[in-house]
Amino acid sequence: MNAQSPDISRRRFIASVGLAATAACVVPYRLFGGEGNLVVAARKAGETANITVQTLRGNVSALIGSGGNIAVLPGDDGKLIIDSGYLGTREKIAAALTNLSHDPIKHLVNTHWHFDHTDGNEWMHSAGATVTAHENTRKHLSASTRVEDWNFTFPPSPAGAIPTDVFNADKTLHLNGATIELKYYGPAHTDGDVSAHFVEADVLHTGDTWWNGHYPFIDYSTGGNIDGMIRAAEANVAKVTDETIVIPGHGPIGGKNEMIEYRDLLVTVRDRISTLKKEGKSLEEILAAKPTAAYDAKWGRLFLNGDFFTKLVYKGLA
Ligand SMILES: [Zn+2]
Repeated sequence: MNAQSPDISRRRFIASVGLAATAACVVPYRLFGGEGNLVVAARKAGETANITVQTLRGNVSALIGSGGNIAVLPGDDGKLIIDSGYLGTREKIAAALTNLSHDPIKHLVNTHWHFDHTDGNEWMHSAGATVTAHENTRKHLSASTRVEDWNFTFPPSPAGAIPTDVFNADKTLHLNGATIELKYYGPAHTDGDVSAHFVEADVLHTGDTWWNGHYPFIDYSTGGNIDGMIRAAEANVAKVTDETIVIPGHGPIGGKNEMIEYRDLLVTVRDRISTLKKEGKSLEEILAAKPTAAYDAKWGRLFLNGDFFTKLVYKGLA
């Protein structure tokens, strides 16, 4: 190995993640135009998505490419996994997990109820995992739940997929020699978002309160709103140091600087749209004014475009 190797492998990693993200996301992006259903297309794209494993710190790894980003801590107490990805990538996730270690899957935490973070719950439970989540995540997975902005109604999840170990505010796990703090954000992206902090390794999984480099989806149908997203972004910035490694719900692994940039983006766009709304402008007039134009090239490429994000922000303003 020469001195350049880490850099080269990092570049390869980024390139490979870029391709996987493109494959998984370009299809749903186009579907915001109404050509089909986003949830169906995203699950379909998930079937061919590639999984990239990134080793972080303190034995914590991230699996990137199957819906929401996944964190894994192997060890003698059995693997702890944060979020379960798409069902369509089950084989690839299972192979990546086995590659990390042969410890059985024993513990699964869901950061929130969305399908791209929980579709793998049932198979992970059947493999031996107890599912832990906020009580609102259990509520949404237990019942038929409609998300208006996806134009999709999810049926109740199978029994094995439903969290049985639920909490309301905080919960601390002691597994595999590590302390893992789970913390409820309050209503943000949904009404059940939790973070998972691997304390000794100082690795934080934010769930979908942070989308690194992308406009975030906000699920108003199950309790999310723009002001809650901003509060969660503030809480994330306040929690981390320059050393913290952060796994976002979507996008590449990052840290405090990227989280500050994201928080500032949310605040700027919210204030801009709020001003236009207070001036009495209709949603159509605000869309025509393109309040996100300066940000779209960077933030609106893969998941939500500027118009879709503008509509979501507008929806949450008084
Ligand atoms: Zn989500």
